[in-house]
Amino acid sequence: MGDAAHCIDIGYLCNGRNMTAKVEMIGKTFGRLTVLSEAGSDTQGPRWRCLCVCGRVTEVSGKKLRYGATKSCGCLQDEVRRKKVDVIGLRFGRLIITGDAEMYVSPSGKARLRQVSARCDCGNDTVVTLGSLKEGITTSCGCYWLERLADPRKHGHTRKNGVSPEYRSWRGAIQRCENPNAERFPNYGGRGVVMCREWRESFASFLNDMGQKPSATHSIDRIDVDGNYEPKNCRWATPAEQASNKRPRKKALR
Ligand SMILES: [Zn+2]
Ligand SMILES: [Zn+2]
Repeated sequence: MGDAAHCIDIGYLCNGRNMTAKVEMIGKTFGRLTVLSEAGSDTQGPRWRCLCVCGRVTEVSGKKLRYGATKSCGCLQDEVRRKKVDVIGLRFGRLIITGDAEMYVSPSGKARLRQVSARCDCGNDTVVTLGSLKEGITTSCGCYWLERLADPRKHGHTRKNGVSPEYRSWRGAIQRCENPNAERFPNYGGRGVVMCREWRESFASFLNDMGQKPSATHSIDRIDVDGNYEPKNCRWATPAEQASNKRPRKKALR
């Protein structure tokens, strides 16, 4: 037989006595693939049945595995291709997609949502799910709704240097529910808390239901801590009032 290097190339290793012995391939990981078992051989040498991290099983030549020519079942190339061609530069309302962002994976692992970063016409950068862009749910960084208020100055919801406390609360709640990078996301979006569609799509509607913040120390309190951001479950409350509401009050609501 040939030299050791050659033997390694075809998946067998010289054992020093000019005989061949199998390289221990089973259980080894190459890129996204973990070798499960032998899968016959072809002109390139032995082939191996591999499990990809995406869950698919595929057969690959040992040579390609060791050379790094094959690193996945094909899902890796799919991702690279998607990133390059399809969405960057596309415009949705005021947002232009600037790149891919980390995939959103729900706590159960069942939902995997593709997220993208986008630049808003107002200059803000934001991260959104591609789905919400394509469905037309998200069309701006949030600035659109602020401007859509019937008469923002009269209601005091724009400031020379920023936005009103009510707007900040509304935007903060959305971040907690929808932005996996938000600090408090795990306790909100991560637990399935969402904002009702009416509020999500209209700050004006939120403000109309909630009214103005009674004071600077008030913030949005969900009466049922497992419930959503929706009119029947929300009120303005001080930290002290919220502290006395740490237990779910499902019975009181139903
Ligand atoms: Zn795969
Ligand atoms: Zn904007």
